[in-house]
Amino acid sequence: MTMLAVSIMVDSVEQALAQAALAAERGADIVEYRFDRIADTPDDAEQIVRRSPLPCIATCRAAWEGGACEADEATRLAFQSRLARLAAAYVDIELAALDGWLATQADLPTDDAHEAAGLILSSHDFQTRPADLLQRVERMAHADACRVIKLAWRARSLRDNLEAFELLAHRHKPMIALCMGEFGQPSRVLAKKFGALLTFTGLDDAAVTAPGQVGVETMKRLYRWDAINADTRVYGVIGWPVGHSMSPAIHNAGFDRVAHNAVYLPMPIPPEYEHFKATVGAWLDFAPLHFRGASVTIPHKQNLLRFVRERGGEVDELTAKIDAANTLVVRDDGSLYVTNTDYAAAIDALCAAMGIEREGLADRGVAMIGAGGAAMAIVTALAHYGARVTIYNRSVDKAHRLAESLTATHGVHTDTGGVVRGAPLDRLPDATADVFINCTPIGMHPNVDDTPMPDWPAHVGSASGADTVVFDTIYNPIETRLLREARERGCVTVSGVDMFVRQAAGQFELWTAQPAPVDVFEAVVREKLGGD
Ligand code: NAP
Repeated sequence: MTMLAVSIMVDSVEQALAQAALAAERGADIVEYRFDRIADTPDDAEQIVRRSPLPCIATCRAAWEGGACEADEATRLAFQSRLARLAAAYVDIELAALDGWLATQADLPTDDAHEAAGLILSSHDFQTRPADLLQRVERMAHADACRVIKLAWRARSLRDNLEAFELLAHRHKPMIALCMGEFGQPSRVLAKKFGALLTFTGLDDAAVTAPGQVGVETMKRLYRWDAINADTRVYGVIGWPVGHSMSPAIHNAGFDRVAHNAVYLPMPIPPEYEHFKATVGAWLDFAPLHFRGASVTIPHKQNLLRFVRERGGEVDELTAKIDAANTLVVRDDGSLYVTNTDYAAAIDALCAAMGIEREGLADRGVAMIGAGGAAMAIVTALAHYGARVTIYNRSVDKAHRLAESLTATHGVHTDTGGVVRGAPLDRLPDATADVFINCTPIGMHPNVDDTPMPDWPAHVGSASGADTVVFDTIYNPIETRLLREARERGCVTVSGVDMFVRQAAGQFELWTAQPAPVDVFEAVVREKLGGD
């Protein structure tokens, strides 16, 4: 069973033992004491190992291997040797120090050497994947003293994780294979899926001892460590950057609620199509990973469409018209399907607030504020259902171009009777629409005093405009200035949270074939955004 380790940088006996007690409380199975800074006080280290509340790994990482121990090599190895003969479950020695270590052990009485802790022979590269990675594995595999092989290198892309999984799959000894840095997180979370001896975490997200590590509670709660096994399906959010995405919190909580054996990870991929193609292709082709789908965000929404078309996958009809997709579904037979749950989420949130079916959008007047990707998706769907849309945009040319392309290129006008036209943003006060939708970032945190509609059209808030609907796609803050003023004017309001939750629910249902636990999604979003 793969162990969950908490790594602690030791400064004093009290601090180390207190942190180890916390690690135990938070669900760690084993603790790694990083004695780098106290190699000159072996008595303290000995006390820590003897009194440790959890089985432990004794490590004193040399500065030349990325650690903080500046002691000379003889002192460092003597220190490690002393700890190895105590209650420590494992002692970690660098591959490059193996000969020195063996010399230290040769001087010991046979009994002492025999009773020594299990030797983790380790190799780290904080810059890149070492060119001789496989030779290092071979040397460790053939070293009799080595009980556990540990490899850690900085991932250059998400693809490096696959090599870590392959090494684990072909191991002849217990192994730890981890990729460092933001690209390496999958190797940490999925260590259990691929049968590693352990994965390292920090006491919390801030107290980590290597780049890319997460806190033990994040591993337990967010990534559902206890539920991961060899069959766990893998999903993720693909974007650049993805660090602040709420999607991992939402989907992992959802999987937990419906007991879907799956985990959802951040998947950072640099903007260029070649990166997208190489990474997603490699993840799909590595069958033991069980990569089953992804949410796809900026800047990859068009890359996803192109990729799935090139692989002969299926594209939802309206998504093809929108020319941007946000959801990848990998079916059990390996075939691919893409769709855009943003447009469906937006118009369904709108229809629910208006108390109508999608068909009821026909002939409704809509003022769309903004002409970017989100606006494009929503306007395409609105026009498809026959709404009359005016796109108000700061760069009016862009509004005209979008209107023309929707009307002409996609045949929206002729197909369905929808009418789309462009207008400058400063003409918004003249709008006569029943529905206003903000698809710009104006009013988004931290600029919460801004609004895309400082001057309201006269009919909104009057008796003739009582049924006006105002929809702000921004979800942070939950109630923007635009929505607050709309509410004060008596309008029906729709928040970006509603859209965000619905687009996630659409993805979840495609992946799990189960109704999405929308209450869980909403609670997660509100907790993250600090709303009621
Ligand atoms: P985008 O492609 O970058 O488009 C941004 C649009 O906003 C453009 O039309 C741009 O006008 C306009 N704009 C930006 N800053 C402006 C300013 N200071 N003054 C006037 N106009 C400004 O972005 P997007 O992907 O469409 O996303 C837009 C917003 O939609 C996001 O900020 C997000 O809040 C929201 N959204 C919400 C969800 C959800 O699930 N709730 C999903 C997707 C998006 P120009 O053409 O003149 O540059």
